[in-house]
Amino acid sequence: MLDTKGYRVGIIGRPDWKTDKDFLKLGRPRLYFGVTSGSMDSMLVNYTPLKRERAKDPHVPYHSGIPDRAVLVYANRIKPLFPDSTIVLGGIEASLRRFAHYDYWENKVRRSLLLDSRADVLVYGPGEKQAQEIARRLDNGEDLLGVPGTCVVRRELRAGFSVIPSYEEVSGDSAKFCEAQRLFSNRRQLAQAHAGRYVLQFPMPEYTTADLDWIYGLPYSRHVPPGFSEFALARFSVVTHRGCIGDCSFCSLALHQGDRIVSRSEGSIIEEIRRLTRHPEFKGHIDDLGGPTANMYGMDCPAPCPEGRCLPCKKLDRSHSRLIRLMKRARAVPGVKKVFVRSGIRYDLAMESREYLRELCAHHISGLLKIAPEHVSPRVLRLMNKGRDRSAEFRRLFKELNRGRRQQLKGYYMVAHPGTSEKEACELARHLEKLEREGERPVEGVQVFTPTPMTRSTCMYRTGVDPITGEPVYVPRTFAEKKAQKWLLEKSGSGIA
Ligand code: SF4
Repeated sequence: MLDTKGYRVGIIGRPDWKTDKDFLKLGRPRLYFGVTSGSMDSMLVNYTPLKRERAKDPHVPYHSGIPDRAVLVYANRIKPLFPDSTIVLGGIEASLRRFAHYDYWENKVRRSLLLDSRADVLVYGPGEKQAQEIARRLDNGEDLLGVPGTCVVRRELRAGFSVIPSYEEVSGDSAKFCEAQRLFSNRRQLAQAHAGRYVLQFPMPEYTTADLDWIYGLPYSRHVPPGFSEFALARFSVVTHRGCIGDCSFCSLALHQGDRIVSRSEGSIIEEIRRLTRHPEFKGHIDDLGGPTANMYGMDCPAPCPEGRCLPCKKLDRSHSRLIRLMKRARAVPGVKKVFVRSGIRYDLAMESREYLRELCAHHISGLLKIAPEHVSPRVLRLMNKGRDRSAEFRRLFKELNRGRRQQLKGYYMVAHPGTSEKEACELARHLEKLEREGERPVEGVQVFTPTPMTRSTCMYRTGVDPITGEPVYVPRTFAEKKAQKWLLEKSGSGIA
């Protein structure tokens, strides 16, 4: 993207952080070092929810090739080597650690990554506009203060900023931690004190359909370098939109990509698919046509309100009509044999359109549709902000629409989320047992809740309080209890590995 704008860009992929060698490879950049750990937080990549090192896990050994707290490690390697260079942090790890945050792996509140890394500026959210603006300013010798979608550290608090509780306050006081949680927003100028200095957040720039069309319309090589084989499965994927209106408490997507949908134009997506068909290694399969939640394409807000609560909004177009049209056009592109939809769907929203589900099942899945009811207990679902359990209704509809076809429905469930005592865990286990007895094999995966930075659920985990209602929340914290909850589901015979 920067290259298209006339800048020269060098990439040092997965540098060896134990020595300086890789960091010296390209010399001193004229404008800046951009540091990211990739599309997931390095601690999530390197550890299981029970804090076992994935690399040492006998069941799923996985060597990520990146260090723990990769952004911090890389930035701290660069700083002494190039003390005068500008360091820009970005990616999901930086984005969600922009303010003081609870770190599950250390079980403590950590400072903003900006302070610990000594970087000059932190980009949060998708960073294309920010990266360009930072390059332009540095090229012109301008200050980096005030770039939309970034945070910086300054000694003075500036006018117009809403002050959220300080690092010192959120570290020691649960009520202050909850207060900070309630104030997080990508739309506000926010300031948080850390020992007399302020982390200043400038609101996210607006990303429009035209922006996304331009970004995804660039001529990416789709080349998967050696050692990055995990990308091969998504090599010919097509992104249709950004953002999610689901607002699940355990998910940080809204504070990264945004809580409104911005969709690409149909023309831009179809053009990208046409280009893929000309790729020498394209075999006719689009690996995924989707976004954070596949069936939110086209649900852009027609008249954005200040806070954005799209899912319950009466004005939201739930017809899926834009998506249905896109799916039909995508699979009709000459050279395309199959367009898969592998991104998750919000099943409750999908139920609003039988036509969408019919299209999806008939043409875009291969024998299996995965949904994420997460739980059945009304109390847990309320804390997750997932609405009531409608999975039985969905199951009936799925069966009806797939009569005569061999299609299966499987679900993802979460154990040990705040609010899940033994009672709620048993409720879920009994529900799954019942489905099993009725001849369903309902479970695709069970995950143990992981408290990741900046989510409401993490706030509940840290404080034992629901930050929205102020009610106390039961929190399963010990490994023994988390394992027991998982074991209950395994015992229920639902085929969980
Ligand atoms: S629907 Fe999915 S992407 Fe959206 S908030 Fe919920 S978990 Fe996150």
